[in-house]
Amino acid sequence: MLKSINLSLSVLCNARCVYCPKDRGENLARQTMPISLIHKITAELTAPDCRHNIEIMQLSENGDALLNKNFIEILRILKKRLPSVKKILYTNLSLLTKAKSEIIIKEGLIDKLMCSIDSVDKDTFFLMNGLNLKRVLQNFKDFLSIRNKLDSHITVNVRILTLHNYVKAIKNSFGFIPNDVDILRVPILDEVPLIAASLERFLHPAKDKVEKSIIFAWNDREKFTGKVDSYTPNLKCPFLERNEHDLYIAPDGSCYSCCLDSKCSITFGNANTETLDSIFNGSKRAKFLEKLRARKFIEIGGACSSVICCQSLQQ
Ligand code: SF4
Repeated sequence: MLKSINLSLSVLCNARCVYCPKDRGENLARQTMPISLIHKITAELTAPDCRHNIEIMQLSENGDALLNKNFIEILRILKKRLPSVKKILYTNLSLLTKAKSEIIIKEGLIDKLMCSIDSVDKDTFFLMNGLNLKRVLQNFKDFLSIRNKLDSHITVNVRILTLHNYVKAIKNSFGFIPNDVDILRVPILDEVPLIAASLERFLHPAKDKVEKSIIFAWNDREKFTGKVDSYTPNLKCPFLERNEHDLYIAPDGSCYSCCLDSKCSITFGNANTETLDSIFNGSKRAKFLEKLRARKFIEIGGACSSVICCQSLQQ
């Protein structure tokens, strides 16, 4: 049964994180999801004969959802049509203005906010994420202050991936410096304790969480593509269990393999022209899962053929 839907409201992102691939949505016909597709998806999920019980909806796969010009309107439709589904927004925070936070919190449009704050030094933050730290922190504090003032149920989860730890993990695992990194500007020390301490004072100790991000080498896929037999004979898909009951839907309706398939290279159908049920239970997806369970990554191709880049690396 389909339990979780991951919507890519936008494959565009205004950040330039060194750990993220820059080829997001390369194979797609459009970059932001239209409202018509939201209506189609919610109509199917609320139909009397729908046999799926969606528990979680992730709103920001593969890009920053706030770059969708209809972002707030889409959240309102989802809240109205699917009130009991837990909605999670992952954002880089740069576009989450005070005005938008007020609407989201007052109307209870999401249940959980997730974000990454990878440094508290403005220069390192810019090197790591390509964003203005001052604006990001202001938006973060505004969101929390409104949330606390209104005693909203929304929880906040902050993830940290420092440039120091990212480079160290990739270098120790594979022996090379990751793409998009200027090695001469990588901080010598790990900033995680400093970042965590400076953010925790704004968070609710019982509701919110600060944690280290998982590190993937998915921005270095091209170094491994097609070489999975020589590099990784025993590796499993780390998202196999999730893939059994999740669907990932791109802005153009393509239903694709998983959140680490940045180009949406492996697809099973299109939600604009087919039902979610027929895609989820269709033969294309069944064959994909069969091969994934059997670890036939080269045969699957696309992002799966560099499954080594989907593994979590130790910091
Ligand atoms: S092996 Fe394929 S399905 Fe599994 S995490 Fe990697 S890209 Fe996703």
